Amino acid sequence: MKNLNGKILERQVILVEREKIKSVGAEGSVTIPANATIIDLAGATVLPGFIDCHTHITAQIENYLDDTFRKSPIDVAVAAHIFAKRTLEAGFTACRDVGSGEFIDVALKKAINTGKIVGPRLFVAGHGLSVTGGHGDLSGFSPYLHFEGFDGVVDGVDEIRKKIRWNIKYGADVIKFTATAGVLSEEESVGAPQFSFEEMKAIVEEATRWGKKVAAHAHGVEGIKMAIQAGVASIEHGSLLDDEGITLMKKHNTYLVPTVYVGDSVEKFGKQWNLPEKLLEKARMINARKREGYRKAIQAGVKIAYGTDAGVFPHGMNAADFRLLVELGMTPMQAIQSATTVAAELLGKSDLLGSIQSGRYADLVAVKADPLKDISVLENIPFHGRCTFSIQRDRPGKPDGLRGVFRVPRQRDQCDRSRRFQFLEHGR
Ligand SMILES: [Zn+2]
Repeated sequence: MKNLNGKILERQVILVEREKIKSVGAEGSVTIPANATIIDLAGATVLPGFIDCHTHITAQIENYLDDTFRKSPIDVAVAAHIFAKRTLEAGFTACRDVGSGEFIDVALKKAINTGKIVGPRLFVAGHGLSVTGGHGDLSGFSPYLHFEGFDGVVDGVDEIRKKIRWNIKYGADVIKFTATAGVLSEEESVGAPQFSFEEMKAIVEEATRWGKKVAAHAHGVEGIKMAIQAGVASIEHGSLLDDEGITLMKKHNTYLVPTVYVGDSVEKFGKQWNLPEKLLEKARMINARKREGYRKAIQAGVKIAYGTDAGVFPHGMNAADFRLLVELGMTPMQAIQSATTVAAELLGKSDLLGSIQSGRYADLVAVKADPLKDISVLENIPFHGRCTFSIQRDRPGKPDGLRGVFRVPRQRDQCDRSRRFQFLEHGR
């Protein structure tokens, strides 16, 4: 599948050299070197690896109070590689990670880039910026409790500039801030703006000076509009988006990263995670209302970049939003493009990611069925007969050439390897 222009091509050969695609063309038109390893994906649909623009890949909610009080950053760090692997195996070969503590995201990215562990290419935010008492602060607890040191809490333009510089100094690729209140935090509101317009403008100005884009978490419509006008690259969640907000997004070329499934997941599992009733109530309110705005935004042609908020629900289920985006009015092709070409654009990496073209990274996914007929084939590898093949960069000390990460479904017969599927097995 060549997805850049939404056209499906058949009988294609993708020639990969080291970590990149060297050429793509119809069978017979591409000269295959004599020493090439052939991976026969006949019968499969090959897509660019998916990009999730909104993850928290270093952690996963298990229990509200345990997560907050009984886990140290080191507990989080030692488990993060598990989530990275699950994400990759779900077909997500790149992620924009919008907020992890203590620069664990930077460390994870480094470990992946140097081949020490398996995971998607990461574009990370470091510490998300929040006002005191805001969505990224820890509110609702005793004032005698102190969590000091690493956080993104800032008030006023000077602190904002310093925090952004500090984030970038230690490896942030993108700047994330919480423009409005949120669901999984104990402040009263869920949608009220939390930064002033002056502060939002300072965030965008400072980030831009360092060549970084800004992602704004925003549920309430007033904060959404302020963030768009301040010049952010993307609105994350955008739950209470209205017509005026949609018009503004189109005018300012702002991407919407809708995060659909996460709301269903919080409603379903929130009690199990011991979330306080107040948070559950916020989740129900937002979840009941957000689909209307998403539907309108899709219809109006707002640029939708795929993002899930994985980490609030289990990593590895990142494909859950595809089906929901189609239910909201996207064609299956548009939903796939939101996670490939459009997501790559938002990252500013269209020259390297999101399409099967020469010069791009050979990040590929193969599924056995046709996702345009049934988008849900992109979910749940082990149980829906999906085969994922992704190629990562070479590891130091390894011979040149392909390195495959291939997951055999638990029910082996669902991925019929005996016939025409031949994959390069994991070289580990
Ligand atoms: Zn998030």
